[in-house]
Amino acid sequence: MKNIAQIAIIKPLHNLFDYKIPANMTNIKPGCRVCVEFGKKKVFGFVINIIEKYNGTNYRLKEIIELVDEEPIIDRETLKLFIWVSNYYHAPLGQVIGVGTPSFFRLGKKLNGDSSNVQRIDNNTISNNISLTKEQNDAIKTIEKSINNYKCFLLDGVTGSGKTEVYKNIQNKVYIKGSQTLIIVPEKNLIPELLEYFKVKNMRVAEYHSSLTPKKRFINWDLIQNCMIDIVIGTRSSVFLKIPKLGLIIVDEEHDPSFKNNTEARYNARDIAIFRAKNKNIPVILGSATPSSETILNITKKKYTHIKMRNRINNQSLPDLKVINMSNRKKNIIIAEEVISAIENRIENKEQTLVFLNRRGYSPVITCRDCSWVPQCKECNLNMTFHKNKDLLMCHHCGRIKKFYNNCLSCNSNDIAYIGEGTEKIEEIIKDKFVNSNIIRIDSDNTRKKGQTEKVFNDIRNNKYDIIIGTQMLSKGHNFPNITLVVIMNIDQSLFSPRLKAIEQLAQQLIQVSGRSGRGRKKGEVILQTSFPDNEDLNCLINHGYEKWMEKLLLLRSNLGLPPHRHWGIVQAKARKYLDAENFLDNIKNLISKNKEVKIFGPMPSAMQKKANLYNLNLIIQSKSKAKLNNVIKDCIPCIKDIPYSNKIRWTIDIDPIDYD
Ligand code: ADP
Ligand code: ZN
Ligand code: ZN
Repeated sequence: MKNIAQIAIIKPLHNLFDYKIPANMTNIKPGCRVCVEFGKKKVFGFVINIIEKYNGTNYRLKEIIELVDEEPIIDRETLKLFIWVSNYYHAPLGQVIGVGTPSFFRLGKKLNGDSSNVQRIDNNTISNNISLTKEQNDAIKTIEKSINNYKCFLLDGVTGSGKTEVYKNIQNKVYIKGSQTLIIVPEKNLIPELLEYFKVKNMRVAEYHSSLTPKKRFINWDLIQNCMIDIVIGTRSSVFLKIPKLGLIIVDEEHDPSFKNNTEARYNARDIAIFRAKNKNIPVILGSATPSSETILNITKKKYTHIKMRNRINNQSLPDLKVINMSNRKKNIIIAEEVISAIENRIENKEQTLVFLNRRGYSPVITCRDCSWVPQCKECNLNMTFHKNKDLLMCHHCGRIKKFYNNCLSCNSNDIAYIGEGTEKIEEIIKDKFVNSNIIRIDSDNTRKKGQTEKVFNDIRNNKYDIIIGTQMLSKGHNFPNITLVVIMNIDQSLFSPRLKAIEQLAQQLIQVSGRSGRGRKKGEVILQTSFPDNEDLNCLINHGYEKWMEKLLLLRSNLGLPPHRHWGIVQAKARKYLDAENFLDNIKNLISKNKEVKIFGPMPSAMQKKANLYNLNLIIQSKSKAKLNNVIKDCIPCIKDIPYSNKIRWTIDIDPIDYD
């Protein structure tokens, strides 16, 4: 008789837990929630398997206290997906279910089933008052051929080529078939614009992201699973939604690192989307103006179909790019004369300028000229950034803060040097130069409140501002037709970063932020300030474009035997003592190194050696084959608990890492 349930609990624990099923609990099935005693606490868990009674063991199992769901709240298909993700990323199944379901799930909450709704309208075709370009038409025709089966398309279209219109046309064809569409975007800020775009003719659209209240998330989850929604637009966790009539997945801005979850279960929503589409035998579209190296490699291996759109709508030309050499200028010049006059020129023409700088705060380093004091975060051994607006010093790695009122915290001198610049300092300089203009700085500090970002973006579109200063939040996807000048302030740090993806992400960011310029009727311009105008990567990108640059990058990576030509898994260990972390990883290295099919690098300190008072070390495991990498790590995990002092170590595994530290 099958009377044992194996339960996943939402905790960082790699195993399932066995509980006895009470005799009267006959409805229990995999995918149901149950309430169990775990340690001394009552928690809600998920039934994964139901198995036979143990033989010959008198170990006493606890009984399940309560069955929450009469019918599985997680259907078979979604449960299979969670199990696959847990196996592929070596993440605890409970945690995967935790990130992949609304938080109300783990509180044992139920819906009253009153989410009847917005009814499906038949023959809801979009009226084509827009005449599609030839490139759009060709793209639609190509994708349409595979509307009933799996195929992965890369819609590789320059910024402003009208990719969204292609998505909409394909979505409409999928809708006519009676199927649902899932659109995944890297950031919730991109959702309102898309919602507007897709909310036509009674199309039932729902959003799904972390800014919704837990209740709203649960309600939307329920509407979607009841097929009351035609289009779901969400951030990365929406890849786990139960969508019974799923007929199409679109991953917009597929290159974006935000698809990777970097806490708990370290999954990549883009890759799961492709897996899901393959399993369900439906098409998946990856869209980008700057496709990732992994995706381009898959194109060369003929795994995906490449669709190119190389022209902007109305044949609007791509912006001109001008490089300004900052290396031969006086030290105190932060914004070049040419840039100032270019901005003046836009203001006269009633056009907008976007000033892009990837660093928040006022200045990244401050020091006392009298006693040489430099504020450092004790927990991370790194400089703290000065935020003038809030009189704060802040560690950008762990978030630690300290009050600072322009007097040295060591000798009280007020002779402080502010070295380097963040968005606040740039704002100060620009406000000083353009006294009568409307200027706004946008970063996570002033867009935290609900609806704030949307309002600011609308104000930009309504020309309320002449100059917009911002970080990477502004570089992605948005359409601001009156921006005709983009100024890129300081990218020099990223040119020399040791991180695997740094140069690729820099190239993507440059092209993406440039793409914000000249999207309306007027031609755009981009000015890049750098002290390294002769840098090889920069020159190749500027003179030959992203596609050629990517070709070179892939060739180099192939010669060096590095990702994306190889597969990586990283074991990261965090410990209060450096040696503890190192010992732990050395032990893992010993366990794995018997296997000759993988190459091992490390243990070595991560780029961020110390964070929040814990030392971080990495062990990189590399293989030509994903399957082999997976097996090696799978075999190793059960042995970890036997490593001496492993209970002192916080360890995680990152498969296909992007931005590890
Ligand atoms: P992308 O996502 O490729 O950067 P968008 O899809 O945002 O570009 O399209 C850019 C702009 O062009 C949008 O305002 C869109 O409404 C408009 N657009 C798209 N297709 C057409 C078309 N065929 N004719 C006219 N305007 C179009
Ligand atoms: Zn001092
Ligand atoms: Zn810190």
